[in-house]
Amino acid sequence: MTEQARTLDERSVGRAMWRGTLCRCPHCGQGKMFRAYLKVADACNVCGEELNHHRADDFPPYIAITIVGHIIIFLMLHMDMAYRVEPITYIWTMVPLAIVMPLAILPSIKGSIVGLQWANRMYGFGPSRSAD
Ligand SMILES: [Zn+2]
Repeated sequence: MTEQARTLDERSVGRAMWRGTLCRCPHCGQGKMFRAYLKVADACNVCGEELNHHRADDFPPYIAITIVGHIIIFLMLHMDMAYRVEPITYIWTMVPLAIVMPLAILPSIKGSIVGLQWANRMYGFGPSRSAD
């Protein structure tokens, strides 16, 4: 392999994470990243970029829990200080919110993490070891 062929193309972390947040391929921004709710596609259906090298693991749920926890705590404190609220109201409002919100934001968070890993050539996203 020549030195010129080994030169790696520039990958923007911000652009890749934004495309991942939109659940799109971090390489082309057109293809779908997921083949199911949280199942990352093996490869992009437009450009063919391999996406199965990601290792997001538990990081997206940690981020989702942190974001949702801050929102729920803010809302509960605001409701408690601004209004007179029965305790059962918290159960009827905050419990569904605490279930629905993480499920709604998880794909975007996972997409951005996969985009981050792709842009930084982490795990299998980098050049193959056989080329070294
Ligand atoms: Zn693509």
